[in-house]
Amino acid sequence: MALIRCPECGGKVSNTAKSCPHCGYSIESVKNIEKISEEKEMEKKDKKRTILILLGIVVAIIVIILITDAMTVSYDEALDKASESHQQYEKTKQELDDLNNQLEENQERIDELEGN
Ligand SMILES: [Zn+2]
Repeated sequence: MALIRCPECGGKVSNTAKSCPHCGYSIESVKNIEKISEEKEMEKKDKKRTILILLGIVVAIIVIILITDAMTVSYDEALDKASESHQQYEKTKQELDDLNNQLEENQERIDELEGN
């Protein structure tokens, strides 16, 4: 039980009363109006909640996209670095082979010179 204000005389009336004991104004209509405004308030809150949930979903999707993107980028970068390292390895190996060939050639020349 709560007290509401009579819109007609401004006196306090129990919300269970059908009419104002001071002026006889029908309280039912006031309660109906209050109920309607309460329902509207609930609807507004529901809308706000729906918007918040949608916003949350959108933010979550954005975060997931960003994380996935960051992971993909770092994976691609790692792949790039790995292939770069491999290329450098191949290059160094080639250079080493060249040096070995040169060394063999030089050794042959030395052998020839020593033989003469
Ligand atoms: Zn009244």
